[in-house]
Amino acid sequence: MAHADEAALFNKDEAKVDWHDKALWFVRQKRDKSAHNVKGWEELRNLASAIKANVLSDLDTYLVQFEENAKKNGVTVHWAANAEEHNKIVHSILDKHNVKKVVKSKSMLTEECHLNPYLEANAIEVIDTDLGERIVQLAQEPPSHIVLPAIHKKKEEVDILFQEHLGTKPCNGDPQYLTAEARKHLRNKFLKADAAITGVNFAIADTGGFVVCTNEGNADMGVHLAKVHIACMGMEKLIPQEKHLGVFLRLLARSATGQPITTYSSHFNKPEPGKEMHIVIVDNGRTEQLSREDFRTSLHCIRCGACMNTCPIYRRSGGHSYKATIPGPIGSILSPGIDLKKHSSLPFASTLCGSCSDVCPVKINIHEQLYKWRQVIVKEVPQPVVKKTILKVAGRVLANSGMYGFAGKSARFMLKHAPRFLVYSKLNVWGKARDLPEVKNGNFDEWYKKRKKNE
Ligand code: SF4
Repeated sequence: MAHADEAALFNKDEAKVDWHDKALWFVRQKRDKSAHNVKGWEELRNLASAIKANVLSDLDTYLVQFEENAKKNGVTVHWAANAEEHNKIVHSILDKHNVKKVVKSKSMLTEECHLNPYLEANAIEVIDTDLGERIVQLAQEPPSHIVLPAIHKKKEEVDILFQEHLGTKPCNGDPQYLTAEARKHLRNKFLKADAAITGVNFAIADTGGFVVCTNEGNADMGVHLAKVHIACMGMEKLIPQEKHLGVFLRLLARSATGQPITTYSSHFNKPEPGKEMHIVIVDNGRTEQLSREDFRTSLHCIRCGACMNTCPIYRRSGGHSYKATIPGPIGSILSPGIDLKKHSSLPFASTLCGSCSDVCPVKINIHEQLYKWRQVIVKEVPQPVVKKTILKVAGRVLANSGMYGFAGKSARFMLKHAPRFLVYSKLNVWGKARDLPEVKNGNFDEWYKKRKKNE
């Protein structure tokens, strides 16, 4: 189904839409306050964007440098061209160590590669240890947001879910009780795990080390207890030097949740004695995206989620309506690059208001890229006849001032005099959730001419 149809399903529950919208707007406001407290915020954004542009312009060199340094640190580096290779590599490492239980901290890359079902099909238990991720895992749902994976669930729903799966007592959605129970449940899983999988937020070419940001310390807990650590990273995650972390860590948490810094920014450099550390560097369409000049800066993304929190469409349609691993504005740029036909409705799921570009910490021109995709899609993907016809007619009307004036007059007359059931018929999608503005007498053109005459 197209995004609009999926969004219509989400919109059936009006109370949920309101609550979802408010919850994300609250996060957006926290981001604003936090960003305004940093002097030179715009300079930081410019700097981050320039660092990322530099990395992408010389990505092959930085990747090889990172690999060499990581190897020197005693880390095994693997390269995966696509999701299938990534999953096979991870499985082969686990298989070599006869691992049957894995704990995994939040990693959008492993979601992108569908690692969990792959490992589960190979008789390996994978436990997501980020609380939000664990909630959606128990609910057998994908995350609906890249930073707040269970933002679509109310605490009362989590209460019921935990009763079913963790045997908790009914608690009326008491977050403290639910969190304490989740902690007990996860501690047990950490202690029994044979291997830990993490994502990578920033990989440092200069040192071969990498940083994983979490708010729950779950990445550290998993890695410190297990014998094998596998870190899965998209190949765009590089920064040249450790000193650049100061730029990105300041931007990331503030843009994501309004926090000054993520609770844990864990640095991993080499395996502990007697343990193994692996890094799997994944392409999976990134090289192709890099080659698309109009869309290459989408690879600057540091996955803060700010563009989702601010997007009026995302807030009112929910992350699942995008049917993509990364939802929201940035997902609507990345997904068509992976499968244009399947995701062809996503670039249209935007008002092009530009709020996403305004909040993006690495200054991706998101709304302009969405507009670019639209231009590609109308040429390459067959469009519905009705849409094509309407747009053709609209194009003619807008290009002819006489026709435009006549259409405006007719529309004003209709809105004033036609019965309500006609004005708010099924065809008027805009009028579904709001009253149309009161119709004025005359248009701007008439007003202007009258004014000129009286001067
Ligand atoms: S595109 Fe920008 S705002 Fe959106 S998730 Fe990525 S870094 Fe954050």
